[in-house]
Amino acid sequence: HIPVICVDGPTASGKGTLAAQLASQLGYHLLDSGALYRITALAAAQAGLALNASGEDAIANMAARLNIAFKNDQVWLDGAEVTEQIRLEATGMQASQVSALSKVRTALVALQHSFRRLPGLVADGRDMGTVIFPDAPLKVFLTASAEQRAQRRYKQLISKGNPTTLDSLRADLEARDARDMSRSASPLKPAQDALLMDNSNLSIEESVNQVLTWWQD
Ligand code: C5P
Repeated sequence: HIPVICVDGPTASGKGTLAAQLASQLGYHLLDSGALYRITALAAAQAGLALNASGEDAIANMAARLNIAFKNDQVWLDGAEVTEQIRLEATGMQASQVSALSKVRTALVALQHSFRRLPGLVADGRDMGTVIFPDAPLKVFLTASAEQRAQRRYKQLISKGNPTTLDSLRADLEARDARDMSRSASPLKPAQDALLMDNSNLSIEESVNQVLTWWQD
């Protein structure tokens, strides 16, 4: 059976960085499931579809046929590089909207499963442990305060030259968390067998080491 480590948690909880480091240290594949929702949202917005129930069928069709490629650190959609565009806060908000549509979630299941290849996978998202890989032997659920997460996201965006304010980011995070937790389709919550990790006061290295210790147990 191909091993999977799930890393779930709210927006800007450090999942992406943690998952990428774990994958590189273990030599495993990496699934950034949020990127799939971001790409779907971008494709849907470009096609002029409504990002709500009225566009659900069309967006789900699109999601099932996404022409995407991950090359090194780049993300491509239909032959165009969209790496930066999918990382914009606005795209994150749109991703949160399309991800609430259950047909869209279903349309992305097979693609997510296809990332499970030898020697193993580290998968990050919201429902990796609850829905996509329920049989994973290790599920980590990150918890960090909205304040901490807004600070982190703020530093990231500022260092990339994207002007923003801490207050607007925090409001954005809270709105996104609320939508992710309250939606009926795969709401954000820890799997029953997930190990909770509050990484508010941990360095990336400390977080990685904690998970590796759990993995070796
Ligand atoms: O993790 P990231 O911020 O890139 O995810 C973007 C949005 O996609 C999240 O706000 C969430 O609504 C959605 N998402 C999801 N399920 C996942 C990953 C992301 O619903 N497994």
